[in-house]
Amino acid sequence: MDYEAFFQERVDTLKTEGRYRVFATLERIAGKFPKALYYAPDGSVREVTIWCSNDYLGMGQNAHVLEAMKAAVDRTGAGAGGTRNISGTTRYHVELEQTIARLHNKESGLVFTSGYTANEGALSTLTRLLPGCIVYSDALNHASMIEGIRHGGAEKRIFRHNDLAHLEELLAGDDPARPKIIAFESVYSMEGDIAPIGAIADLAEKYEALSYLDEVHGVGLYGPRGAGLAEEMGVMDRIDIIEGTFGKAYGLVGGYVAGRKGTIDAIRSFAAGFIFTTSLPPAVLAGAKASVEHLMMSDIERQRQRRNVRHFKARLEAAGLPYLKGESHIVPLIVGDATCCKMVTDMLLNKYNIYVQPINYPTVPKGTERLRLTASAAHTLADVDYLCDVLEKLWAENHVYQYARA
Ligand SMILES: *Cc1c(COP(=O)(O)O)cnc(C)c1O
Repeated sequence: MDYEAFFQERVDTLKTEGRYRVFATLERIAGKFPKALYYAPDGSVREVTIWCSNDYLGMGQNAHVLEAMKAAVDRTGAGAGGTRNISGTTRYHVELEQTIARLHNKESGLVFTSGYTANEGALSTLTRLLPGCIVYSDALNHASMIEGIRHGGAEKRIFRHNDLAHLEELLAGDDPARPKIIAFESVYSMEGDIAPIGAIADLAEKYEALSYLDEVHGVGLYGPRGAGLAEEMGVMDRIDIIEGTFGKAYGLVGGYVAGRKGTIDAIRSFAAGFIFTTSLPPAVLAGAKASVEHLMMSDIERQRQRRNVRHFKARLEAAGLPYLKGESHIVPLIVGDATCCKMVTDMLLNKYNIYVQPINYPTVPKGTERLRLTASAAHTLADVDYLCDVLEKLWAENHVYQYARA
């Protein structure tokens, strides 16, 4: 068999469907984010404005974070030197886990190498350990939760997105004696809408299920201490397990879970994705701790981001552009066709120096291809206005509809 030709053919199919992923090569400029250098395929380099980053608060260039990282490198060197079990647990890991527990007002925290591995490891472990467990999973849950649930091998029921009646119908239909986990997100990253966290906690209590909440797009951004949307809604203590990341609003990399002592210890003890991998470098953890602690005290970044998001949505609303009107900071602008989506983002990048990655199937359903736009605390109102002016122009000139309907 000609393996190479086979694989090339598979990739070519993606190209004809218009959903072949082309990565933009960037160099973020510390102190100037959301500006970055773009390394174009033709070898040229120019400055662009990033409009699709998850560094929502600009913490990736925050002075306290950078200082903490540099200090940790000077003190301990580059890597952790091992897995968590074999010489790779440093005081930076322990301190960050204590910070996470304090942030979410839980007994314990556990740091993973990413939010993806945290979800995969925690959900596969919990569902595998609980005999006869049933998982209730929101239809729009992130791939990392879906993988975790799949690997756990427990029975799975998918409830319609944010549909409490459907969730209750499924819960009521199952044996009350069987262990149950409800897995959902606070902010849905591709829709920009939010979950009725309190009402789901009510159902979890009523049907004696564990509640597992992915706060990846909530932490840092919501709540008076940045502990997430559950904190903002006053229901954080009613959620059993909170999962988060240092890779988005906290500006670094790494993930975690927080919850009761025994639950977290079970994940620590049984999750393969936690134990059989080299632990994160101390400098990353020092930066993450500085970022979490800074945002527990400081509200300036959140206020600035909210101002930008408000202004952005008001401009889109006034222009009548088809964005999804969720309650969160994420603004999906629907294009509805993969090829057209790519064409619009190419135009934004090459003509207007605006970088936004097209979001296509399988990340979102076919026919709902979109631009996922994120106004950060580091954008200026002028940045927002420039983007809106350009979007209005592209839509008015029919670049979008013309291709979407072809
Ligand atoms: C990005 C994301 C993750 C994974 O977090 P990483 O730290 O980037 O691995 C998990 N859940 C959701 C909802 C996400 O959007």
